[in-house]
Amino acid sequence: MGNVGASEVPQLIGPDGLRIDGRRVDELRALRVVAGPLKRADGSAFVEWGANKVMAAVYGPREVHPRHLQVNDKAIVQCRYNMAAFSVDERKRPGLDRRSQEISKVIAEAFESVVFAEEFPRTSIDVYIEVLQANAGTRCAGIVAASVALADAGIPMVDLLPSVAVGKVGGHIVLDLKKEEDNFGEADLPMALVPQSGRLVLLQMEGHMTASELGRALDLGVTGCRAIYEKMKQALRDRYSVDPPQAMAEAAA
Ligand code: UDP
Repeated sequence: MGNVGASEVPQLIGPDGLRIDGRRVDELRALRVVAGPLKRADGSAFVEWGANKVMAAVYGPREVHPRHLQVNDKAIVQCRYNMAAFSVDERKRPGLDRRSQEISKVIAEAFESVVFAEEFPRTSIDVYIEVLQANAGTRCAGIVAASVALADAGIPMVDLLPSVAVGKVGGHIVLDLKKEEDNFGEADLPMALVPQSGRLVLLQMEGHMTASELGRALDLGVTGCRAIYEKMKQALRDRYSVDPPQAMAEAAA
C-alpha cells in the first residue's frame, strides 16, 4: 500500500468493471511454469507470471549449514528469497533486507508443513528463490517455483503448494494483484494452499477489508490456486513424460 493522497490514486477498476491491464476481477495474469531449467541444482523451476520472472533452485537433502541448526529426527527446510538489484524500476539495494528475511521465513515454514521431513533426519533441504523481475506477487511466484523445484528434486511432499495474492482494489475483491494494484489498492493478501486438504499454509495481509470481504477473497484465492496447481502439474508432466517413440529411440541408441 503506497503512502499517497486519495487524489493521486489512479482509477484501478474502470466503469466496464475491468482492471488497468484489461483483466476481469477474477482473472489471473498469464502464467508459465518450466520445471528443471538448471542442470546443477537437484531441482529447479522457472516461473514467468505477468511481468514477474522468478527462478527457484533446490539442493538436498544435504548436510546442514550452519551445523548447530541440525535436528536429530527430521530435515529442516531453509529458504533464501532474494530480489535482484535490477528486478525493480528503482534499483533495490542488493542483499538481504528485513522484507526478504520475513518472506524467506514464511516460505520455509509453509514448505516445512508439507515436506515429509522425518524421512531425512539431520539434513537440510535448501530452497533458493531469485526474483529477476518483479511486479507484485513475487513471494507467491517464488512459492510456485520452489514447489515445482522441490518436486523436480524428488523431495517427498504431501502436495504441491499453489500460491496467489488476492486483495481489495477500487472497492472490488480481485485475484492476482499487479504492481499498481498492490501499491494503490486497499488490501493485499498472499496465500498458499494445500490443494488436496484445502489447508492454507501461508496467509498474510496488508491493508483492510471486512470479514465478509475476507471470506470472498479467500474463496477467490482458493479457486485461483486450483487453476495454478494445474499449470504446476503440467510443467512436471512436460519435464518427465517421454513420448513412446522418443523413449524407444533413446533405448535403442
Ligand atoms: N518492490 C520494490 N522494491 C522493493 C520491494 C518491493 O519495487 O524493495 C515492488 C516489487 O514489484 C514487488 C512489489 O513491490 O513485487 C510488492 O511487494 P510486496 O512486499 O507486497 O511483495 P510481493 O507482492 O512481491 O510478494
